[in-house]
Amino acid sequence: MRNRLAETIAEKGIHDEAVLMAVRSIPRHIFVDTALENRAYDDRALPIGCGQTISQPYTVAAQTQLLEIKKGDKVLEIGTGSGYQASILCHMGADVYSVERHEELYHKAREILQELGYRPTLKLGDGTKGWSAYAPYDGIVVTAGAPVVPDDLIKQLNIGGRLVVPVGSKESQMMVRITRVSEDSYEEEQLQQFKFVPLIGEKGWD
Ligand code: SAM
Repeated sequence: MRNRLAETIAEKGIHDEAVLMAVRSIPRHIFVDTALENRAYDDRALPIGCGQTISQPYTVAAQTQLLEIKKGDKVLEIGTGSGYQASILCHMGADVYSVERHEELYHKAREILQELGYRPTLKLGDGTKGWSAYAPYDGIVVTAGAPVVPDDLIKQLNIGGRLVVPVGSKESQMMVRITRVSEDSYEEEQLQQFKFVPLIGEKGWD
């Protein structure tokens, strides 16, 4: 089922072999409620409690592909949710930091990731301000829809680092990739429309 899911997302445009390998390797059904296990390998988002979702596998893969991760890169994820994307990043050899604002999801993700043998550094809190203690990052991925690009995140990028963030209204967002090309210059690309749950916090939605 995992192989078939990897094939499905490859047909939709995912070509990064390391991302596809991670999708083939990680048991997505462990990240959802047992009642939803039979839908875990469909290419769709599923509820995970607290009104939140585990993103559609294609979306996780597309965001990860845009990060252009190399082994050992330091990556910050905003919105741990189920922990699935954090596991993909860990599987690809990244040094992963992830922030979640819902306590229940934070604890659940921590447990599952430990069970699977992944060791990201997790934090409960508002990720709209990033995580300055471990900055700068080679990649930052925001897995909830932001009203604007949170400026603290841009500042926490390494030179050459990439921020991947969906930006727009609560109904639909444009995937934006910002690359820090020097100390004070950035390149912005606008890529594709998506629909995420809202990024809620000081530099996000109320
Ligand atoms: N990456 C997740 C996964 O693999 O399951 C996707 C989770 S879901 C689409 C987005 C998550 O972002 C939710 O769990 C939500 O609680 C979280 N979130 C929203 N605003 C946040 C914020 N300011 N800081 C941290 N997490 C936030």
